Amino acid sequence: MDSTPTHGAYDVVIVGGAILGSSTAWYLMNNPDFQGRVLVVERDPSYEMCSTAHTNSCIRQQFSNEINIKCSQYAAEFIKNIRDIMGDERVPELDIQSYGYLYLADTEAFADVLRANQQTQQNAGAGTQLRSPEQIAQGYPFYNLDDIILGSHNLIDEGYWDGGTVFDWFRRLARERGAEYVANEVVGMTRNAAGTRIENVTLKSGEVISCGHVVNASGPRALRTAQMAGLEIPVEPRKRYSYIFSAETPLDQVLPLTIDPSGVHMRQDGPKTYLSGCPADIDPAVDYDDFTMDHAIWEDKVWPAIANRIPQFEAIRQVTSWVGHYAYNTLDQNAIVGPHDEVENFMFLNGFSGHGLQQSPAMGRGMSELLTYGTYQSLDLGAFRYSRIVRNEPLLERAVI
Ligand SMILES: Cc1cc2nc3c(=O)[nH]c(=O)nc-3n(C[C@H](O)[C@H](O)[C@H](O)COP(=O)(O)OP(=O)(O)OC[C@H]3O[C@@H](n4cnc5c(N)ncnc54)[C@H](O)[C@@H]3O)c2cc1C
Repeated sequence: MDSTPTHGAYDVVIVGGAILGSSTAWYLMNNPDFQGRVLVVERDPSYEMCSTAHTNSCIRQQFSNEINIKCSQYAAEFIKNIRDIMGDERVPELDIQSYGYLYLADTEAFADVLRANQQTQQNAGAGTQLRSPEQIAQGYPFYNLDDIILGSHNLIDEGYWDGGTVFDWFRRLARERGAEYVANEVVGMTRNAAGTRIENVTLKSGEVISCGHVVNASGPRALRTAQMAGLEIPVEPRKRYSYIFSAETPLDQVLPLTIDPSGVHMRQDGPKTYLSGCPADIDPAVDYDDFTMDHAIWEDKVWPAIANRIPQFEAIRQVTSWVGHYAYNTLDQNAIVGPHDEVENFMFLNGFSGHGLQQSPAMGRGMSELLTYGTYQSLDLGAFRYSRIVRNEPLLERAVI
């Protein structure tokens, strides 16, 4: 990847080339109606520390907002038809390992949330089913369900998918079709005299690039990028801990992505390995470069929760672990997508709070439509608009992991 753009003027400058930036670039380059030039600026082309590299790569339809369900339904369609949609024989066929998310409620209050969510999901065409503890035990006899009142489970298009491969193909085909990727960092932006537009962005290497639109696809660094334009968004990096473990006595069936009331989740990973994850009990914003592991979390929180829920997992061994950052939207844990109200060519693509990987096809498509036509053409993503932040009107997501 070059560090210098070939020419100093672009129709679209995308800040951040991970899955959201690359999805947008691919959808733009794939649309014959878009005739512009695209520059993707990526500060770390190894992508080692970005959220996309640390993801758990799961997809669900168990959201409390219809628009999030619709985004995941499009993602499922995209994943299962990726070769046709991308129009390239080299793209591998992909599928979803649909073992489902199994939410477990141990209080009436949360059981009511599951009931309400299931209605929303069913109305949106999702296959979520409410499950009594007896029904759960019939299908999955290994759980300890003593404290469980209700569960909800969906076996259709919900589980694991290969987000890394989709990211690779977004990036690869975006570049082949003409998007320029540069290894550089956006460090500043200049507005016009009226303050209504970003005229240019400044790169760390000193080049000044004039731009038709700027897309903020900078993940957990979203606020820093917004502040370069003099704008604010309530997005901060928060640590999420992931663990791969093996069990002395593995289960003889696939483990659904089980969301324990303790806040710990676990799922099948390899044939005999499992993935678990959680936030810390105290979950502050952290430094952009702070990926330090707190080893006590495994001992004090994760292992006890796993062993309590699945007694067969009393004897488990941690194989590996990592820390990743959510780009956490503190207002409502939902994405912020579309133009700023006053700085009209500054586009947000931020705050995905743990569900951005599965939203990348719908969001890249929607953003490319906004950039090409000025309006959404397929799925209306208006619910994610920036103005809700200013008006303090949260689009609350009640099913966050
Ligand atoms: C532990 C964990 C588990 C997750 N599990 C799931 C899951 O199961 N399902 C799901 O859908 N989502 C999941 N997510 C969320 C998902 O991974 C993210 O929402 C998604 O990857 C965000 O992609 P992004 O492109 O917005 O951000 P990132 O992947 O963080 O990329 C942002 C990029 O911008 C670059 N950048 C930043 N600032 C600048 C700048 N000034 N100049 C140039 N480049 C810049 C960065 O280097 C980075 O490469 C998980 C996240 C974590 C951390």
